[in-house]
Amino acid sequence: MSQPERTGSDFNFEWRWVANNYRARVQRAAVLYALTGIPRSVEEITDRTQRVVGMWRARITHLQNTGYDLNGGPKKLAYVRNCTPAFVKAWPDSIPCKMERLCPFCYARWVGTIWDKLDDSFDNPRPEAGDNYIPVNRRTRHAIPDRSMPDVTRNPETRHRGRPLRAIQINDGADEPVGFPYWLIEHQRNLNFPYEKHGTDLNFLRAIVEDVIGWRQKWFRKNDFVGGFCSNFLVAAKKGWQLRFRALYKVRPGFQFCVEPTGPRKTHRQPTRKIIFGAIHRVCRYPKYLMTGDAEQTVALLTALQGRRIGGKTRALRLTATYGDFRNSQLRDLQNEQ
Ligand SMILES: [Zn+2]
Repeated sequence: MSQPERTGSDFNFEWRWVANNYRARVQRAAVLYALTGIPRSVEEITDRTQRVVGMWRARITHLQNTGYDLNGGPKKLAYVRNCTPAFVKAWPDSIPCKMERLCPFCYARWVGTIWDKLDDSFDNPRPEAGDNYIPVNRRTRHAIPDRSMPDVTRNPETRHRGRPLRAIQINDGADEPVGFPYWLIEHQRNLNFPYEKHGTDLNFLRAIVEDVIGWRQKWFRKNDFVGGFCSNFLVAAKKGWQLRFRALYKVRPGFQFCVEPTGPRKTHRQPTRKIIFGAIHRVCRYPKYLMTGDAEQTVALLTALQGRRIGGKTRALRLTATYGDFRNSQLRDLQNEQ
């Protein structure tokens, strides 16, 4: 095999193929399209992924020069700049930087794990719907090594293990509702904090996130949700900081909130995989300002989210949480063991 090309310590990635299942699409919709708009062709997906690689390398270097602590020297920066791209299978393989709060690729991988949890939890009455173009069955999808997939982008007629790979057609009628034991509710709420009053004071930023975490715990305890997922983004908006609370609830039909919640919400009584896909990419939309916003504000925010030092230990502020059915028990057990 030939050696990967490099420019300095940066890999010049080659693009191999684009996966087209819901899991891949939800990652692209939440992150790639949020950053670069909706592509019209598979080739554009590749071009835009290349653009995001450039954006990411420029941004992380700029943030580090502005005072963001990467916890490592120049070597760490080189490895973060080569974080494994999402959206398109790239060669050579590299190591994910695991900076889920900032890195668009690691963030997209996190969106993929949210998809897995919700998709498994809803037990769609027709699990095959929407999946007829991926060459693996739902339960074993992670077991297929990437390199065994043929190049879908260049040859749409390719067959894989005897099954044809087709371009995705989400509106092909295969996802018709049959009968749904649970509903899905999307809920959002925004809180605004103008800059004139609150600059980039770290304690202020920490306090608003801590507040919402406390409120979130009570909210999930009081309501009889079967499953819950919520994500809080603290965003540098035009006029001030904005705290965006985004949540998805799995509920029994006829569900009533214990108190009418503030902010718009939408109830899906027939949560097909397509509906779940839409809800997740809206709720998990990557905050664009992380890549394009004022560098000092971004560094202040990231530093604030690292949490406070209490008794020699730093406790990071957790912006997202899953409850009930949306918690993946297998995964949780694994994490507890580590
Ligand atoms: Zn990364």
